[in-house]
Amino acid sequence: MSDDTLSSRLDQIRTRITQASAAAGRLPESVKLVAVSKFHPAAAIEQALEAGQRLFGENRVQEAKEKFPTLRERWPDLRLHIIGGLQTNKAQEACRLADVIESVDRPALVDALSRAADKLERLPNLFVQINTGDEPQKSGVAREEAGAFIALCKARFGEALQGVMCIPPEDEDPAPHFAFLAGLAHDHKLMECSMGMSADFETAIAHGATLVRVGTAIFGHRP
Ligand SMILES: *Cc1c(COP(=O)(O)O)cnc(C)c1O
Repeated sequence: MSDDTLSSRLDQIRTRITQASAAAGRLPESVKLVAVSKFHPAAAIEQALEAGQRLFGENRVQEAKEKFPTLRERWPDLRLHIIGGLQTNKAQEACRLADVIESVDRPALVDALSRAADKLERLPNLFVQINTGDEPQKSGVAREEAGAFIALCKARFGEALQGVMCIPPEDEDPAPHFAFLAGLAHDHKLMECSMGMSADFETAIAHGATLVRVGTAIFGHRP
């Protein structure tokens, strides 16, 4: 299978997920693949849907809004995760569109999401994004504030708070970051641990990822 189609690339990623799960003594079903479709057109997402993929990630609310409502009409069982830093003024639109928001990272956003959920009577599941590298330019809660912030989110959102997410610094070994995130999920009894991208998802699976977010390795380079 050397043909380089989107469907064959998806198959290859699924195979690698199964292998990495087995190597870690985990069931392949314990790792979900989030296909990150940001910057790629709806036509590419349709190809992935036709190849059986149902779970997608988008960074920007506006872009998700342009692509996903129409796709949902045809594939009602698709699931959308918002994975990018979220402005408070986009909280309501994000609540309307997303099944999961993976990037909850500050009290002002918690307030905005609460208000939006009350108004819409709809609350997506939520993950707290942790800035495991404490990088100033990156979204996410600082390491030392993570515990208190997770507690705040639990108090506010209850069962809707389901997990944690991180993006390790590009120039570092991701393994210690993944280990830290998995430990945090465990300590706070959160089921979902979203970590690992095209370059490092196998390492993330070895450390306990329950979702891996893969863009380039499925859709190719972003236009
Ligand atoms: C773009 C993006 C990804 C996917 O990255 P690839 O290297 O293309 O697999 C994963 N997570 C987040 C938060 C992203 O913004």
